[in-house]
Amino acid sequence: MLKYCSVGSGSSGNCHFVSYKDTNLLIDAGLSGKRIITGLNDIDAEIDKINGIFITHEHSDHIKGAGILSRKLDIPIFANVKTWCAMKDKLGNIKEEHMKVFENDKTYSIGDLGIKPFSIPHDSSDAVGYNLFSDKEKISIATDIGCITDNIRKNLYDSKLVILESNYDPNMLMMGSYTYSLKRRVMSDCGHLSNEEAAKFCVDLINEGTESILLAHLSRENNFPDLAFATSKNVLANNNMIIGKDLNLEVLSRDKVSKNYGL
Ligand SMILES: [Zn+2]
Ligand SMILES: [Zn+2]
Repeated sequence: MLKYCSVGSGSSGNCHFVSYKDTNLLIDAGLSGKRIITGLNDIDAEIDKINGIFITHEHSDHIKGAGILSRKLDIPIFANVKTWCAMKDKLGNIKEEHMKVFENDKTYSIGDLGIKPFSIPHDSSDAVGYNLFSDKEKISIATDIGCITDNIRKNLYDSKLVILESNYDPNMLMMGSYTYSLKRRVMSDCGHLSNEEAAKFCVDLINEGTESILLAHLSRENNFPDLAFATSKNVLANNNMIIGKDLNLEVLSRDKVSKNYGL
């Protein structure tokens, strides 16, 4: 069974755990090494059997614990060249053999899992989302996306489970304490996805075969879990899509480990 679990997801730290048969991968390690290990223990993941960490981009909420985990668990880190250049100095000492480079839009096999990084628009060196494949199913992880591009659509459609950014409520962002330039950055096509944008895309995903969507990477300052959920629920309802009947919709916690989702 292809399994997914969030160790934590939000603007202050992200780490996803995906496993299939004997292969276990982390996508991002943006919490402290200690928190990630505690979280993985809570879901009975076999920590000494993790095969590697795949990085989406170099922002600290995605790489904070990556260096520590690579050293502690003796595991490789995978990223594209531009992301490696941008994050290398922030990770501490990484064994040469643990510095693995991939190319975007190619599918790789790591043990029993297939994994494909695909380009997304975000204000970092070369950010990616990921498809993860078992023999039959596909999971997709897409956070830190400024807008929904054709490439994102192409890669996310047909995923049974999608972890999708629902970062901010536009009113909270505008009324909040961020500087004007930071507000513009968040709202730009290379920033983050708003609740409304995520909600609209949920409709397309369900029409294209997705059964379950987990809203992720919520802003601490500019969002609430209930608000993100309600926004998607309303847009889905306007399109005659009922949560619990036509799809499963949940919000991932910033601080807590999620349940195990099995496909
Ligand atoms: Zn980012
Ligand atoms: Zn982020």
